[in-house]
Amino acid sequence: MEPGSQPMPMRDWDDETDFLVIGSGAAGMTAALVAKLEGLDSLVLEKTNLVGGSTALSGGGIWIPNNHLMEQAGIPDSFEKACLYLQNTVGDRTTKKRQEAFVTHGREMLKYLVDRANLEFNMMDGYPDYYPERPGGVTTGRSVYAPLFVGRKLGRDFGRLRDHEYAAARRVQLTLQEFKRFLLCKTNPTFLPTTIRAMLRNAFSHVFRRGKVTMGRALAASLFHSLQEHDVPVWTETELRELVLEGGCVTGVLVEKNGKISAIRARKGVVLAAGGFAQNASMREEYLPKPVSTEWTSAAKGNTGEVIRMGMKIGAAVDLMDDAWWGPTVVAPGTAPFFLLVERSYPGGIIVNSAGKRFTNEASSYIDVGHQMYERNEMDGVTIPAHLIMDQRFRRNYFLGVLPWGYTPRKYIKNGYIKKAATLEELAVEAGIDPDGLVKTVERFNEFARTGKDLDFKRGDSEYDRSYADPSVKPNPSLAPIAKPPFYSVHIYPGDLGTKGGLVTNESAQVLRADGSIIDGLYAAGNTSASVMGNTYPGGGSTLGPAMTFGYLAGLHAVKGEAPVS
Ligand SMILES: Cc1cc2nc3c(=O)[nH]c(=O)nc-3n(C[C@H](O)[C@H](O)[C@H](O)COP(=O)(O)OP(=O)(O)OC[C@H]3O[C@@H](n4cnc5c(N)ncnc54)[C@H](O)[C@@H]3O)c2cc1C
Repeated sequence: MEPGSQPMPMRDWDDETDFLVIGSGAAGMTAALVAKLEGLDSLVLEKTNLVGGSTALSGGGIWIPNNHLMEQAGIPDSFEKACLYLQNTVGDRTTKKRQEAFVTHGREMLKYLVDRANLEFNMMDGYPDYYPERPGGVTTGRSVYAPLFVGRKLGRDFGRLRDHEYAAARRVQLTLQEFKRFLLCKTNPTFLPTTIRAMLRNAFSHVFRRGKVTMGRALAASLFHSLQEHDVPVWTETELRELVLEGGCVTGVLVEKNGKISAIRARKGVVLAAGGFAQNASMREEYLPKPVSTEWTSAAKGNTGEVIRMGMKIGAAVDLMDDAWWGPTVVAPGTAPFFLLVERSYPGGIIVNSAGKRFTNEASSYIDVGHQMYERNEMDGVTIPAHLIMDQRFRRNYFLGVLPWGYTPRKYIKNGYIKKAATLEELAVEAGIDPDGLVKTVERFNEFARTGKDLDFKRGDSEYDRSYADPSVKPNPSLAPIAKPPFYSVHIYPGDLGTKGGLVTNESAQVLRADGSIIDGLYAAGNTSASVMGNTYPGGGSTLGPAMTFGYLAGLHAVKGEAPVS
């Protein structure tokens, strides 16, 4: 027996399968599907009553460099170029072997799902890498998504697919590209036709009960549908409780269903694809930077991390436990947290700390803004929470979370979620910001807006900054003066889409011990594993791309007992 591992007292198996998958997100469903298509019996266990995890709540962007859709569209990319980009973003924080495995097999995985499982993917046109100007970066093509899916195809199982927490997101199903245009159609009339088409489609879908879904729900639904078609069972309300280890090899699991514990044998392996620990308050407290709260995470409720602990208990190494897929988040009282993807790029808004100072390029990648919030707060103690400052023009033209153009409910002013004031000084006092600091910052920022050059943080210089900005605003689509009263602010917290840290795996998704040895029979993928992306987020879909790729590799490895040939 390996050091650190603990034998389970053996008992008779209640059930058995070849390949056992824990968790019904993108990582788990991809692994189960591939194993089944390659001839193994596979079974997915999901502890909640719903299928899809954070995957179903997500934007559904999947980052796959050098993918076949780019090739078809004539967009140049290559293995070498993608690896160069990863070296210039992720760097040496993760092994070159895993980065290369991701680049080689990510593209292969996508094509495999299209050819073997009839899944569909589209390219997200005009969606750049998050650092497109770095060597190896591209300005479009590496992010793909599952197109609209007709939920009714799932039959009764449609009711088992996880749905958004926000009623607005449940009612209006848009693709990421439609969403971007819809939000900006007030100032860009050319976006209206797309918006009207999408709204009509929505209305028909409701009237005729088609249940059309988009973004991450479309991805989760299409994977779930493929599992259905290939007779892969998904047992919901079935929770992993223990890994069974025999002679240093994982041979099965103990699960709890309806209060009863049973033992399931896995002849060819177990994949831990149970998401990260974003919803586990004590793990957050133990591992993540402070201040920390489960109130700020957008991850699915089932992402409670106990599966990572189970891996650790049998000797698995962990990495990146102090990091997450961070992003500025607002929390309106009585609602779920809202991750600010686009609002930071809109002209006429800035993020300041309580000293009234900007500390970041607001429009840069969400993970960078999150990291900077923590780094800055560590130094000055006044950056968490920070404040998004907006003027009337901003509120009139843009959404703030789910609040549409110009709509600021009185209850949010009353309960203090949104501060509103006639002058910047009054707003600062209301929000607990240093008034002098805020006024000086806005004066300086307004000058940048006039010239189109943010001399402090270069906002709007990168193609990525401009991808969510307002193209009707000139000279810099991400910069406009904060000048028109009344002024508004909301608190910004370092929220996240999930955590990055987890079990250390090799290029076949096999779980490793601290000495680098393999725990036979055990795989991990998605946010249960330490991300191949290290501390960064190279492009839209940097969690789902690797989750699906390493899920695919786990499935293939379990079938063949070796890594696929590159
Ligand atoms: C609002 C939002 C937008 C996002 N947008 C994107 C995007 O566009 N692109 C991108 O790449 N990423 C995005 N993300 C992040 C992405 O959704 C996650 O990183 C990804 O879905 C993780 O996939 P996973 O398979 O590891 O886990 P999940 O999809 O979370 O699935 C894990 C499942 O395991 C289950 N589970 C947990 N413990 C157990 C147990 N003990 N037994 C059985 N089952 C268990 C959970 O209940 C859950 O259903 C977004 C996230 C959110 C919240």
